[in-house]
Amino acid sequence: MSVAVHAEEVRALIDIAQTINAHLSIDAVLESVMSVAKDVMAAEASSLFTIDDDTGELLFHIAQGAKAERVKTIRMEAGQGIVGHVVDSGEPLIVNDVANDSRWYSKPDEESGFQTKSILCVPLRTRERILGAVEILNKIDGPFTRNDLVLCQAVAGQAAVAIENAMLHEQMLEKERLAAIGETVAGLSHCIKNILQGVKTGSYLVNMGMEKGDMEYVGKGWKVVSKKNDFMEELVWDLLTLSKPREPLYEKTDLNALCEEICEIGAEREGEPGVTVDFKPDPGMPVVEVDGKGMRRCLLNLVTNAVDACTKGGKATVETYAPGDDGMVRVVIRDTGCGMSDETVAKLFTVFFSTKGSKGTGLGLPVTKKIVEEHGGQLEVASEKGKGTAFTVLLPLVHEEWQHPDPSCP
Ligand code: ADP
Ligand code: MG
Repeated sequence: MSVAVHAEEVRALIDIAQTINAHLSIDAVLESVMSVAKDVMAAEASSLFTIDDDTGELLFHIAQGAKAERVKTIRMEAGQGIVGHVVDSGEPLIVNDVANDSRWYSKPDEESGFQTKSILCVPLRTRERILGAVEILNKIDGPFTRNDLVLCQAVAGQAAVAIENAMLHEQMLEKERLAAIGETVAGLSHCIKNILQGVKTGSYLVNMGMEKGDMEYVGKGWKVVSKKNDFMEELVWDLLTLSKPREPLYEKTDLNALCEEICEIGAEREGEPGVTVDFKPDPGMPVVEVDGKGMRRCLLNLVTNAVDACTKGGKATVETYAPGDDGMVRVVIRDTGCGMSDETVAKLFTVFFSTKGSKGTGLGLPVTKKIVEEHGGQLEVASEKGKGTAFTVLLPLVHEEWQHPDPSCP
């Protein structure tokens, strides 16, 4: 049987084909498909059902039409109603006189008064399976025709491909999410295991000292325990920092004074003896607006990494530079340490990447990068294996949100 095809119907099919390429979320695909179906079919309402793979139930997704706005997502048992019948049989169905058909007749909806008069329902079918059905209700200008059926089948065919694509995409995202959780748990477990091991060793020494009445053992053991306690605190702080975006708490800061303090702490770090930390401040450094606590953490991370990288006699240097033409303040942390291969540099900002065994968490650089970027700044790295490394922190002198929205307010 030949079917007349109108320009608006062709247009509808092209729209749906474009939707398939444009959207990867099921909701976006559904909405777009339904609005096209309703506009071209000139029906009072339309809805779309998909089969829940886990329960076999039909999931009512969306309704469009004058009376349909208040309809929410509904679950229906498999096989129920005309949609259930179409999904089970895989065959489309037209019922133009619902009032006189006892199989599909239902009373008007109490709240909206919506009464089903005619129905066109076609399965959402891909080559392998049936995903659900499209249902179009109450054609305004007469009965549903063979022409409507053919168009609706074409629409449903396109919709099925779009929905399947969207489902596959969502499954892929879920897999990636689970993989990321798995990696985080593995990294975290490794850190916690190291901390527990340290606490165990320290406690053993404390116990032994107490048994023998030897305070030297007690002191040594307690030192180990409290060091691991600090480590744990750092770990939790880093995890919290990474867990969500944060607005820095800006305050006017003397960056040179901050860097000097960090150099002193870095020089006292336990590790390779004889590592010096030099400070070369730019005397022209103006006052900057940064999150003092966050920036302290960033610079301490970079300086301790520089010290860790230096073998005996190695040197770390911290240099500050007042803003250049780009309005950015610079802090360069340089070391004459072991340097890094390109492969290591590529992994630097991956959480839990560390070459320091039980001494590292692999969170220092990801945290540093995040804080610097939250300031609107950048973290750059240049390294040569066997020669050394330079990290550069670039920070805008004035951040955009600093201006008070109402200058008349204090
Ligand atoms: P952690 O210090 O806990 O290992 P970081 O995120 O601070 O974690 O650093 C990750 C890794 O990057 C370090 O384990 C080290 O391999 C490498 N790294 C960082 N800074 C330097 C540096 N200045 N020189 C050489 N290697 C570095
Ligand atoms: Mg570190």
